[in-house]
Amino acid sequence: MKMLIAGNWIDKSPKIDVRNPFDNSLVDTVPRGTDEDIQKAVESAVKGYQINKHLPVHKRVTILNETAAYVQKNFEDFARTIATEGSKTIREARKEVSRCINTISLSAEEARRIVGETIPFDSVPGSENRVGYYYRFPIGVIAAITPFNDPLNLVAHKLGPAIAGGNAVVLKPATVTPLSALKLAEAFMKSGLPDHILNVVTGSGSEIGEALVSDPRVRMITFTGGVEAGLEITKKAGLKKIGMELGSNSPVIVLEDANLQKAVDSCVSGAFWAVGQNCIGVQRIYIQEKIYNAFETAFVRKTRQIKVGYQLDETTDMGPMITETEAKRVETWIRDAVDKNAKLLTGGHRKGTIVEPTVLADVPPEAKIDSQEIFGPVVALYPIKSLDEGIEKANKVNYGLHGAIFTRDLNKAHKAIRELDVGGIMINDSTDYRIDAMPFGGVKHSGLGREGIKFSLMEMTEPKVVCFNLDEN
Ligand code: NAP
Repeated sequence: MKMLIAGNWIDKSPKIDVRNPFDNSLVDTVPRGTDEDIQKAVESAVKGYQINKHLPVHKRVTILNETAAYVQKNFEDFARTIATEGSKTIREARKEVSRCINTISLSAEEARRIVGETIPFDSVPGSENRVGYYYRFPIGVIAAITPFNDPLNLVAHKLGPAIAGGNAVVLKPATVTPLSALKLAEAFMKSGLPDHILNVVTGSGSEIGEALVSDPRVRMITFTGGVEAGLEITKKAGLKKIGMELGSNSPVIVLEDANLQKAVDSCVSGAFWAVGQNCIGVQRIYIQEKIYNAFETAFVRKTRQIKVGYQLDETTDMGPMITETEAKRVETWIRDAVDKNAKLLTGGHRKGTIVEPTVLADVPPEAKIDSQEIFGPVVALYPIKSLDEGIEKANKVNYGLHGAIFTRDLNKAHKAIRELDVGGIMINDSTDYRIDAMPFGGVKHSGLGREGIKFSLMEMTEPKVVCFNLDEN
C-alpha cells in the first residue's frame, strides 16, 4: 500500500515488507518514510488544520458517519487485514472492526457535544458589566503514533476525535502492522475528508519518530505504545501537549466468596486474548488461599483447551506472537521465572512465533514477570491470605492501567475501588474489559491523560475565553 501525504497516495522505495507473523509470508509492502516525508506531512497538516477548523461540525459529522459506514461495508476485508498482518485470530479481528465502527460513530456523536459554558464574570467586584463564555477550539496539528496490537481500533481512537475536534493529523502506525491504518485512512478519504487533514507516514519509529515528535508545528503528541518509546518521545517533544497510553501488567484479585467459574473463564480469556499482547491483559492473579487449589485446577484445565494456530482458521482461539524476536523474549522471561523456582503449570514451549498459553505459580519477586509487563501469553497465579495482601501486591508495581476484583461482598469491592492504584477497576470482570466510550488510561508508568472519545476530545481541544465589556464609557 502507499502512504498518504497532502492528499496524495505516495509510493516510493525503499520499501518495508509487511509479513504474516504465522508463516512469515509476504502480505504487502509500504514505503520506508523519511524525515523529509515527515516534513512534508507536517507542512500539509498545517494547511489541513486551517481547513478542518473552518469545517462546520455537521460536515465533520457526515464524514465520520460515512467513514464508519465504509468500514461496515468492507467489514470482512478490514478483519482479514488485521488477522493477516498481525497476531489476532479472525474472530478477534472481527471484534476489533466492530469496535472501530463504534469508535468512529462515537466521534461523530461527540463532535456535536463540544461545548463550553458561560462565565460568571460578575462574581468579582469590578466585573459587574462583563459577560462572556468559553468555547473549545481545536489544538492544531496532532502527531499520532500507534502500536501493533490493535492496529485498527487504536488508530481510530486517535483519528476519530482528532478529526471530530477540528484538528489535522500526521499518523505514524506501527511498522509491523501499517495496513489496517492505511485502510482506515482510505476510508476517511473515500468518505469526503478534504486533503491535508489526514496524513499517514509509514516507517520506523526509531528513524522518523524524532522528526515528527520534535517538530514545533506539532501542538500535541498522542502516543500509544511501550514505556521505553514513550519516555524517549517525552525527552524529544519540547513544549507541546502529550497524551501517553502505555503498558501494564494488570492484577486481578479473586476472593473466596467469588463465583469461581466466572472468575476462571473471564481471567483465562483476559490473559490470552490477542496472545496476551494486550495492554489490559491479565498478568497477575491473586487468589484467596481457601479457593486457590480449585481455581488453579480449573484455570489450567481451561487454558489447555485453547486451540493455538493459524489466525485465519475460524476454529483457532489464539494466534502467533507478532514476531519471532518477541516470542523469543517471552520464552526467555518464562525461563527466567522457572530458573528462579517458579512452577510451570502448563505451556512454556515456543515454536517460531507460537508460544503456548503458559501458566506459572510460585513466581518469586526477582522474576521479571512478577513486576514487568510480559506482553505475551503468560499469566502468574499467587495465593493470598486476605484482601489487604492482594491490594498490597497488586499495587507494588510501577504500572496502573486496569485492576479487577471478583467478589460478592460490596464492602470488599469498595475497598478495592478505593485502594487499587489504577485508572479503571472492574468488579466481577477481568481487567480486559473496556468499552470505547469510557475514560481509558493509567497512573504511574501506564500513562498520562485519558482516551475514550469524549475524553480524547477534551485533550484535543482547548478552551478559549470570550469576554464582553458592556460599560458604556
Ligand atoms: P512500541 O514499540 O512502543 O511502539 C509503538 C509505536 O511507537 C510504533 O509505531 C513505533 O514505531 C513507535 N516508536 C518506537 N520508538 C519510537 C521513537 N523513539 N519515537 C517515536 N516513535 C517511536 O510498542 P508496541 O510494541 O507496538 O506495542 C506494545 C506496547 O504498547 C505495550 O507496552 C502495550 O502495553 C502498549 N499499549 C498500550 C495501550 C494503551 O492504551 N495503554 C494500548 C495498546 C498497547 P515502530 O513500529 O516503527 O517501532
